Amino acid sequence: MHRVFNFAAGPATLPTEVLAQAASEMLDWQGSGVSVMEMSHRGPEFMHIHQQALADLRTLLALPDDYEILFMQGGGRGQNAIVPMNLISRLDPDRPRADYVVTGTWSEQSFVEAKKYGDVHLAASTQTDGFTTVPAVTEWSLSDDAAYLHVCTNETIHGVEFHSLPALDKRVVVVADMSSHLLSRPIDSARYGVIYAGAQKNIGSAGLTIVIVRRDLLGHALPCTPSVFNWELVSKHQSMLNTPPTYAIYIAGLVFQWLMRAGGLVALEQRNRAKAALLYRTIDDSHFYTNPVEVGARSYMNVPFFLADASRNAAFLDGAKARGLTQLKGHSLLGGMRASIYNAMPIEGVQALVDYMVEFERHHA
Ligand code: PMP
Repeated sequence: MHRVFNFAAGPATLPTEVLAQAASEMLDWQGSGVSVMEMSHRGPEFMHIHQQALADLRTLLALPDDYEILFMQGGGRGQNAIVPMNLISRLDPDRPRADYVVTGTWSEQSFVEAKKYGDVHLAASTQTDGFTTVPAVTEWSLSDDAAYLHVCTNETIHGVEFHSLPALDKRVVVVADMSSHLLSRPIDSARYGVIYAGAQKNIGSAGLTIVIVRRDLLGHALPCTPSVFNWELVSKHQSMLNTPPTYAIYIAGLVFQWLMRAGGLVALEQRNRAKAALLYRTIDDSHFYTNPVEVGARSYMNVPFFLADASRNAAFLDGAKARGLTQLKGHSLLGGMRASIYNAMPIEGVQALVDYMVEFERHHA
């Protein structure tokens, strides 16, 4: 068997133990005689998988009881529309209004999509500095009558992360796109009204979208909201209003159990910090590689970096691939390189990458 260190931004690397378990259970899940893919979503076997995944996610996040976990479909992009559909009329159906903080491509996409549903106000943007910072909260212009405030707490393309949520008035309902760092560290869930994330980066396989909603925020959907995207209805039907992405839920459930065995999110945060520190130190110690993001805003999950001489990019990528270090090509918007180092990337993978970077620099600087 040949496994590479896969630095893809998503779909992304998964823990080998999880894949091995899924493989061993592929034809016959725990004596049921069928694959998880072949089970009825309403049968006792899948109901067990589903309930266990919900319970384990709740434990991992230490989620308070007044939050619902929804297993949905449509990805982060889907939620860009589903969030305003469910929430923008919360305070006043005649005056749908929300605030957006834009710190990179993903929050920009959310902002643009939300405009279809109401009066959407740009509370802060770091576009003029090329999305390399997190804007100081003192510069945010928040509306008194916004139904919610949207942020993307980890910008997957620009590599900008909120390491903590700034202090805000308790009445502000914060909606966070955590697609690329949910479960990378503990979070204070009670600070958020809604958290959403596609599973295909740090959690599992594509097809599952995790949505965590404070219960009092349910029940405000616009009348045009499709039933399967109406959080209140989805919650009432325990995420089974339509057929849920059963296999993706199963894989996410295996990842939750892997995270618990690894010591939970406190342990994961330590591992993730160590990996990111190693990679950023290598970049900062060299004159050959750069990362433009302000130090305090650097993502622990997605690390864009640039070679001083871009004409060497292809050689860098070829050499990396030859060593089993794959998917390092940067997003087309930025060029250069990007290493996504999610939970499932072991420190050995980051060590192999930095060893290669040092060697490549020695030969080409
Ligand atoms: N938000 C963030 C932060 C992302 O990284 C992505 C995907 N790269 C999305 C939203 C969109 O997710 P999806 O492709 O699941 O719709």
